[in-house]
Amino acid sequence: MTRRLVVVGASLAGLRAVEGARKAGFDGPITLIGAEEHLPYDRPPLSKAFLDGTAEPPFYRSEAVLVGELNVDLMLGTPATGLDPRQRVVHAGGREIPYDGLVIATGANARRLPGAGHLAGVHTLRTLDDAYAVRRALDAGARTVVVGAGFIGSEVASGARKRGLPVTVVEAQPTPLVRAVGAAMGEACSDLHRAGGTDLRCGVGVEALEGDGRVERVRLADGSVLDADLVVVGAGAEPATDWLEGSGLTLDNGVVCDATLATGAPGVYAAGDVARWFNPLFGRHMRLEHWSSAAEQGAAAGTAAAIPGSAKPYETVPYFWSDWYDTRIQFVGVPDAEQVEVALGDVESGRFVALYRSGDRLAGALAVNKQREIMKFRALIARRATWADALGFAAQRREPIHQGAR
Ligand code: FAD
Repeated sequence: MTRRLVVVGASLAGLRAVEGARKAGFDGPITLIGAEEHLPYDRPPLSKAFLDGTAEPPFYRSEAVLVGELNVDLMLGTPATGLDPRQRVVHAGGREIPYDGLVIATGANARRLPGAGHLAGVHTLRTLDDAYAVRRALDAGARTVVVGAGFIGSEVASGARKRGLPVTVVEAQPTPLVRAVGAAMGEACSDLHRAGGTDLRCGVGVEALEGDGRVERVRLADGSVLDADLVVVGAGAEPATDWLEGSGLTLDNGVVCDATLATGAPGVYAAGDVARWFNPLFGRHMRLEHWSSAAEQGAAAGTAAAIPGSAKPYETVPYFWSDWYDTRIQFVGVPDAEQVEVALGDVESGRFVALYRSGDRLAGALAVNKQREIMKFRALIARRATWADALGFAAQRREPIHQGAR
C-alpha cells in the first residue's frame, strides 16, 4: 500500500520535511497543512531587510513548485486542531487526514503582553502579517517602544533607527540577553544600542500600555512615561503545541523527541522550533529557535517519517545570527559557561570573538563582526575540543603585531 506523509506546519521545517522526503526518493502522497494563508516564507528577513521598506515578502517556493514539482497537496489557512496517533489521523478543517508518517513542524508563537490585546499599534513580530503591520507603522514615522531587548526586539529597534526614528527599548532584566549569551556579553551587545542612538532602559518593567483605542503611551514601573505610536513586544516565543493536548505525545516545553526526532508515537516525528530533542553532542534535550537547526531537522524528520527504517540520530552545534545596526552577531554552542574570555579582537573595537568554557571543554563562541571566524569555533565544539585547545587555536588566529610598526 502507498505510504502517506502528512506535514503539519508550512514554514521552514515543514518545507524542508517535504523536500527532504522527495530528495530521499519518497514518491507517495504528501499533504502540507499550514495555519497561515501564506505559502512558506523565511522569517529572519522580517525583522531585518523587510522592515527597511522595500523588500518583497520572502517566500521560499512558488505554488507552482510546491504543487507542480514537489507534488504536494497544500492545505493552507487550515490549522490542525488535533492528533490521534492510535487512528493515525490529524484533524484539520473539519476533516480527518490519515497518515502513515507524520512530521510536526508547528514552530512557536510569539508571547504577548497580558492585557494589551485591545489596543491598536501593539504588535509582536513572528509572522509576515505582523511584519507588514510593523513596517506600515514605521513608514508612518512611528515613535517606537520595544518591550524586551532580545534579538528580534533589538533588530526592530535597529530598523527604526536606520530610518532616523526615535526608539526606546525597555528590558525588565538588569542586563539584556543573559540567557542567550551570558551577562558580560549581554552588556557588550547593549552598547550597540547606545551607539546606535536607541534609548535602552534596563531593569524596569512595563506597568501599562495606555491609549484610547490605539496605543499612545507606555507607563513604566519606575513611574516614567514614554509616548508611543508603535509598541513591539519582543518577549520570546512558546512552542505551538496546543493542538496536541490530549494526543498522548509528551509535551514539555515542546514536543519531546529522542535523538532521531521520533516522538514515540509510531511514525510521528517533530522538527524545528516546536521540537525538544535529545542532542547527542551535548548529552541533553534542547529546543532551539534557530533557522539552521529548523532547516536541518525538517529534512531529517521528513525523510525519517516518509521512509521507515531510515531515521538517524541528529546532532548539531546550535548556531544563530542577528543583525543590529551595522553589526553581525553570531553565536555557536551553548552559553551556560563557567568562564567567558575574549580570545580574538577586543570589545572596544566592536570586532571580537568571545569563548565560553564549561568544565575543560569549549562550550560556545560569540562573534561580533567576525564572520570569517565563527564557523571554525563551531567545528571545534563539534570535535569536543578542550578549552586549552580552543585558546591555542584562537592565539594562532590572532593578527600578528608587526614589530617596529609605529
Ligand atoms: P515556524 O517558522 O514558527 O513555522 C511554524 C509554522 O507552523 C507557522 O507557519 C505556523 O503558522 C504553523 N502552525 C502553527 N500551529 C499550527 C497548526 N496547529 N496547524 C498548522 N500549522 C500550524 N533564526 C536565526 O537563526 N537567525 C535569525 O536572524 C533569525 N531571525 C528571526 C527573525 C524573526 C522575526 C523570527 C520570527 C524568527 C527568526 N529566527 C532567526 C528564527 C527562525 O526563523 C526560526 O527558528 C524558524 O522559522 C523555525 O522554523 P519552524 O518551521 O520550526 O517554525
